Amino acid sequence: MLYQSPLPAQYDEHSRGELADRIRRRKQELGSCLVILCHHYQDDDVAQFADFTGDSLKLSQIAASQEQAEFVVFCGVHFMAESADILTADSVRVVLPDLSAGCSMADMAEIEQLEDAWEILSESAGATVIPITYVNSAAAIKAFCGRHGGACCTSSNAKQVLQWAMSQGDKVLFLPDQHLGRNTAYTMGHALNEMVVYDPKRDCGGLSPNELADAKFYLWSGHCSVHQLFTPTDADRIRELDGKYSILVHPECSWEVVQKADCVGSTEYIIETVRDSVAGSHWAIGTEVHLINRLANEHPDKTVRSLARVQCLCTTMYRIDMKHLLYSLDALAEGRVVNQISVDPETKRQAVIALDRMLANASSPQTATD
Ligand code: SF4
Repeated sequence: MLYQSPLPAQYDEHSRGELADRIRRRKQELGSCLVILCHHYQDDDVAQFADFTGDSLKLSQIAASQEQAEFVVFCGVHFMAESADILTADSVRVVLPDLSAGCSMADMAEIEQLEDAWEILSESAGATVIPITYVNSAAAIKAFCGRHGGACCTSSNAKQVLQWAMSQGDKVLFLPDQHLGRNTAYTMGHALNEMVVYDPKRDCGGLSPNELADAKFYLWSGHCSVHQLFTPTDADRIRELDGKYSILVHPECSWEVVQKADCVGSTEYIIETVRDSVAGSHWAIGTEVHLINRLANEHPDKTVRSLARVQCLCTTMYRIDMKHLLYSLDALAEGRVVNQISVDPETKRQAVIALDRMLANASSPQTATD
């Protein structure tokens, strides 16, 4: 995780209203050379300033289509800003308002661990393995997949990408989220006993020679610390509480939770499902709490609540607040670029291969704005 130095004291002196006014003024001053991208998990305080909101796939597509912008301020986490830097023209500078906004899942896969795993699988898998990384990973991991015939995927297109991978090889190494890998492979008709969990902290991933030889899917032992909090007991409790609730979860939740859900899908899918449901619908949702709260506010004719009793909050994304957003805009307006996220050219070249394969397996670019 990168370190964010404390902001100058003046940013603590403004009230919420003053911060909002100043951000609006800076946006106006910077005009069309600035684009603010905002992930759905951001707090409303920040999301209100977004030129575009979306999940990681949608924001990657939007970043790739920016031709006018000079600066992309990415209100999300580090790997998303890296993807934006990889996909935008060299003239576009990508800024992450708080450098410490990382992703615990992305941090669970390090390039040295992946290189070790690849060596082990090359000797033991006995077949062609295609590496697929969830877009929630460092640029170096994406680049590895690009140069080894693999691709990136998101939760929106994981199934299409895995289908593509199985047409390119015999087996898949899926990282860093074991749950997305397992849930996706299962929906494609693969049995759980075709999948093994590869633990990079253990010798040979903690797998026996037979397990390494027989498995079809090697699932990296990573997870999202937010979606991992939802449990099958939460689903049972909601069903007992009120039979009116439909359970809607993100595929980063465990397989056991997904089996108890009525609907499963990406962040965009969750938003569309609630939006398109009839008035009076009841939804218990397994995803990040800011998105759930926003859906509840936007759909007062429906009952929307979290599936869990505990607060499932992405604490790293929450580090991007109005103070840090204003800090980055002040600097841009003064002709300085702070917190630029820049991927080296060679990593970029290889990562873009993996990201292009991801975008080729996605639906057409989004145009929505708010
Ligand atoms: S919700 Fe999970 S996967 Fe998404 S950024 Fe936060 S920690 Fe990472």
